[in-house]
Amino acid sequence: MAAWSEERARRPLVVRRADAGGERIGYPGEPAYDRDGHGALWVRQSFAPGRGRPQFQNVHALRQRRAARRMLCQVCGRPTPRGGPWLFVLRDVGRPVEEGERTTAPPVCVPCARVSVRHCPRLREGHVAAMVGRAEVWGVAGVVHRPATLEPADGALHVVAYDSPAIRWTVAHRLVLTLHDCAPVRLDALPA
Ligand SMILES: [Zn+2]
Repeated sequence: MAAWSEERARRPLVVRRADAGGERIGYPGEPAYDRDGHGALWVRQSFAPGRGRPQFQNVHALRQRRAARRMLCQVCGRPTPRGGPWLFVLRDVGRPVEEGERTTAPPVCVPCARVSVRHCPRLREGHVAAMVGRAEVWGVAGVVHRPATLEPADGALHVVAYDSPAIRWTVAHRLVLTLHDCAPVRLDALPA
C-alpha cells in the first residue's frame, strides 16, 4: 500500500459541476474512474508499483482504497479471512481500538502485522491491535475545497462521511472504515 517514488499524486484543475443533487467539484472531461461508487471524487495518482523506492510514509490512494474496500492485507495485498474476524493494527493513541473507531488502515494478516510494526514509521513508535468482527465503509479522508472559490480550505486531510454535504467539495485521498465488534489483541499472542 506504500507509494513508490515514481508514483506521484497529480493536482489536476478542479471545476464546478452540477448534477441532480446540486453543485460539486469535479475534473474537466472527467472519466467515470475518477469517482467511487458513492460519487466521491478521487485524487489522481500514477500507478507504478516497484518503480523507484518504496515510500513507507506515503500511501498510494488507489491501493489503499482497494485494500480497505475488499479487506485485503494492506502489506502483501492478499485476501484476509472471508467473514472475519479481521486483524487491524493502528497507531497507538493511548487507548484500545474503540467500537465505531474510524480508520484509514485496511486489515493486515498476522505475518505482515509483525513486520509492519517494526518497519512502518506510523506504527514503530507504538501500536494497538484488535480483532474486528465487522468493518464498514464510512467515508473518505481528503482535501476539502471551498465551494465559493474551489480553493482547498487547507492542505490537511479531513475525514468526511459519505452522507455529509462536504463530500461534494472533497477530493478523496483515503477510504475511511469504521470498526465494530472489536476485541483487543497482542500481536505476540496470535498464532502465526
Ligand atoms: Zn499480508
